[in-house]
Amino acid sequence: EAAVNRIAAGEVVERPASAVKELVENAIDAGARRIDVTVADGGKTLIRVEDDGSGIPAEDLPLALSRHATSKIDGSDLLNILTFGFRGEALASLGAVGRLSITSRVAGREGARIEVSGGRIGGVTPAASGQGTVVELRDLFYATPARLKFLRSDRAEMQAVTDVVKRLAMAEPYVRVTLSEAGDRPRELFRAEAETGAPVDALRRRLRAVLGREFVENAIPLDAEREGLHLTGFAALPTYSRGAAVQQYLFVNGRPVRDKLLVGALRAAYMDFLSRDRHPAAVLFIDCDPTLVDVNVHPAKTEVRFRDPGTARGLIVSGLRHALADAGH
Ligand code: ADP
Ligand code: MG
Repeated sequence: EAAVNRIAAGEVVERPASAVKELVENAIDAGARRIDVTVADGGKTLIRVEDDGSGIPAEDLPLALSRHATSKIDGSDLLNILTFGFRGEALASLGAVGRLSITSRVAGREGARIEVSGGRIGGVTPAASGQGTVVELRDLFYATPARLKFLRSDRAEMQAVTDVVKRLAMAEPYVRVTLSEAGDRPRELFRAEAETGAPVDALRRRLRAVLGREFVENAIPLDAEREGLHLTGFAALPTYSRGAAVQQYLFVNGRPVRDKLLVGALRAAYMDFLSRDRHPAAVLFIDCDPTLVDVNVHPAKTEVRFRDPGTARGLIVSGLRHALADAGH
């Protein structure tokens, strides 16, 4: 069992950033209003994600660690997936390739803790804890040294972790998100306070916190609809430039995705304005009925498959062109 878990784990957890993604997504799924991520050595020696969400009842802790155990789906309605997690694999995978502990408390109950290391699950013990969950992952891939070799420098892994945290922070403007580095020189790398107000205002302020003042001062809000697909977000004016930095962030039904079709559509929308070597900057959210899109193409990947790709492309191209035209371009 442990060996099977380790092999399958590589599918979900490729590097520290993928572990951070799974843990932060779990916190969001648990309704957290506050998520604090702490990382040491690019996430190789420590990843800690602390949330104030619903918590996990003590008796459910062993279950949360077992493969294909998820509280988020009943098996009858696989397409209607509205939470991030639905495979029940992340915690089992992380427990197979590192030293994992979960400390959690649900409202009105005592806190509890469980540890798993290299796939061996320990017992549940009482533990002091605030409401919510702290997941700590130490020594990622210690049980699979071959994978350790594929990791890049601490700095590069930290960059990937930061990118994941920022993307998720953009998707959740009403949640406070912090990212800190532990170790010899502990420091906070990123902080976004919980936003309030209407979605477009909350998003604008969150993007200011994540991408900077210049982006929001040079970006126009989007609002377009086509055949059940709804486009919102912000697109930068063609005159805005961040040099070589690529600021393209895509979200489908609230999930950060990287998708060739959507990036191609973004590029096409700006075709008349930007030379080929410049990347348009935009933060695009496409929301639709979950049956119109499949986001479960690969466990660790973030590709999406629209039932009608042409509609998604057309929505982005026309939505952005209209917004740019309204802004005088
Ligand atoms: P999935 O997210 O696909 O359900 P995971 O392995 O990521 O699978 O998590 C397993 C289960 O553990 C979840 O279904 C959820 O019930 C519980 N869980 C994990 N993280 C948290 C958290 N931060 N807060 C509350 N419950 C959690
Ligand atoms: Mg999950």
